[in-house]
Amino acid sequence: MTYVRIATEEAFAPPELFQRYRALLDSGWNADPGFCSLMGFYLTSQSPRIAEVAARLQDLGELRLRDMDETGIAKQIISLTAPGVQIFDSPTAVDLARSANDQLAEAVRKHPERFAGLAAIAPQNPPAAAQELERGVRQLGLKGAIINSHTGGEYLDDPKFWEIFEAAEALDVPIYLHPTSPPPAMIGPFIERGLDGAIFGFAVETGLHMLRIIVSGALDRFPNLKIVAGHLGEALPYWMFRIDFMHSRMVAANRYASVNKLMRKPSEYLRETFYVTTSGMAWEPPILYAQSVLGVDRVLYAMDYPYQFVPEEVKVTDDLPIPEADKQKLYQLNAERVFRL
Ligand code: MN
Repeated sequence: MTYVRIATEEAFAPPELFQRYRALLDSGWNADPGFCSLMGFYLTSQSPRIAEVAARLQDLGELRLRDMDETGIAKQIISLTAPGVQIFDSPTAVDLARSANDQLAEAVRKHPERFAGLAAIAPQNPPAAAQELERGVRQLGLKGAIINSHTGGEYLDDPKFWEIFEAAEALDVPIYLHPTSPPPAMIGPFIERGLDGAIFGFAVETGLHMLRIIVSGALDRFPNLKIVAGHLGEALPYWMFRIDFMHSRMVAANRYASVNKLMRKPSEYLRETFYVTTSGMAWEPPILYAQSVLGVDRVLYAMDYPYQFVPEEVKVTDDLPIPEADKQKLYQLNAERVFRL
């Protein structure tokens, strides 16, 4: 074996975050039915599997290291679990992000060979989010930021969020665009059939978010921004041809005032700004497909620990029918480059 395995979308949750989630749910707050449904389940389920996930989420030491050893994971890039602080009022979110980042940085200091971290930020307050990203990177040694898709139904293509992009670009660190439950305006038809979570709703909502960023023209403004998306790009790699075709027709027809002319095709931004990870997608055909359409330099390994902690899945990646050098890129070199480890 000529590589080490770096897992890039791995979650943690300080006990304080769960307490805050619980307090929010207990208060009868229900502005986000997706959050209430999913977190309500996690916080009240009696299932042993959920109890194990909760214990693993809260561990930044021995349990996590043992799991990593048993599955051959050399390093985890850890971030605050979804929806992070994005569900709270702005002052609470800003405070909680700082405290979560301090705790994560402390764990990384204890285990620098095994852990790296991404900063939690509160897009509710864009200047504070940009500042916390900078503090996280410069003072705490974190490697980028995680944003759990929409914040209160708002998307990062809104220029009010762009100082976050500006900060990430200036610091030369990526933003990991992680899923969350679809917002109230979108969730109805998903939740009716239990499709709002990681089974499908997450991917639809986050893929939409990526595409909104692309077609907004934001990436003409921030050409050096790096965005990482999980789940092999939330299905967008499969759609590139049709998106390019239809986008060019729509620009030509001038049908929507909001459809901007872009400097490049939508697929080119997907290939040049985005990196995708294999989180939750331990399946040979789409991994090979993503590598073939995005390039072997743009696909990174992730496990999605502890939500999808399935040791046998590592073997799927180990056994991919690709050259050893490409496997090293997938498992190690791309992560080292993108996150500047
Ligand atoms: Mn995840």
